[in-house]
Amino acid sequence: MARIGFIGLGNMGGGMAANLAKGGHDVRAFDLSQDALDKAKAAGCLPVESASAAADGAEAIVTMLPAGKHVAQVYEDSLFGAATPGTLLLDCSTIDVDTAKKVAEAAAAKGLAAVDAPVSGGIAAAAAGTLTFMVGGPADAFARAEPILTLMGKAVIHAGSSGAGQAAKICNNMLLGATMVATCEAFLLARKLGLDPQTFFDISSVSSGQSWSMTSYCPLPGVGPETPADRDYQGGFAAGLMLKDLKLAVQAASDANASVPMGAEAMALYQAFANGGRAGLDFSGIIRMLNGEQ
Ligand code: NAD
Repeated sequence: MARIGFIGLGNMGGGMAANLAKGGHDVRAFDLSQDALDKAKAAGCLPVESASAAADGAEAIVTMLPAGKHVAQVYEDSLFGAATPGTLLLDCSTIDVDTAKKVAEAAAAKGLAAVDAPVSGGIAAAAAGTLTFMVGGPADAFARAEPILTLMGKAVIHAGSSGAGQAAKICNNMLLGATMVATCEAFLLARKLGLDPQTFFDISSVSSGQSWSMTSYCPLPGVGPETPADRDYQGGFAAGLMLKDLKLAVQAASDANASVPMGAEAMALYQAFANGGRAGLDFSGIIRMLNGEQ
């Protein structure tokens, strides 16, 4: 049993911290929200009054925060002062590659080990402990992170050096955003051309147009496996979070001088969808906008 600090007990972090406690660890949990702290307590964690208190005496500290600015702030203001040298920092938030590299460098300068370990899988996977972790950082830090991440996920993959986990995450989600838009378009066109959507699914899901967006996350209700489309696009992966990830990908592409026209187009479409007040809907709900529905 290790003492583990956990900061950021929201939709994702709440379930993840609970799984570390279930795995037998002494989890010192902190969030700005009292409600999140109460839930963490009920799940077997020990709520503490600050991020520094969560870091104090911990062998490892997990952060699951909204964006890069929150991670940089918590690292600078709390963790760097309170964590003892040798402590392992695991940032599981989805943030920009640049900040991920900078905080890892700053951590190393303080004698701390750090990995970026963003996740694939949503709130249900966080609660069930079936996330996929893509990890960036030195091999020795990865070796220490792996048993901790395994308690929260079904797959833990070393992507490379610091920032490589975030790079894998945003490239994956850029691909997902673009294939979802393309899958929606294809279904709408197929229907306008007189094809039955189920028949098109049966054909395309075993043909070269196949993708995860088609076979596992079909954007039309009543077609394929059960998905958020069957729940009126409630739950699932919010379009606002997809937009966040696409913005990170397009920014990273600009910094790296890479051409991502499909990613940029997907970002513009999700921005329009969010501007229409639909950022909270599942990202497959963009089919409604493409179909001209209000
Ligand atoms: P969330 O908004 O539900 O949770 C974030 C939590 O961080 C909140 O409870 C907030 O109070 C807390 N917080 C913010 N600043 C803090 C601070 N300074 N100190 C302590 N706590 C602080 O967000 P989420 O859905 O849990 O997402 C967390 C991260 O995971 C994001 O980076 C997101 O992009 C990523 N992610 C989310 C999903 C998803 O489906 N929700 C999937 C994959 C990755």
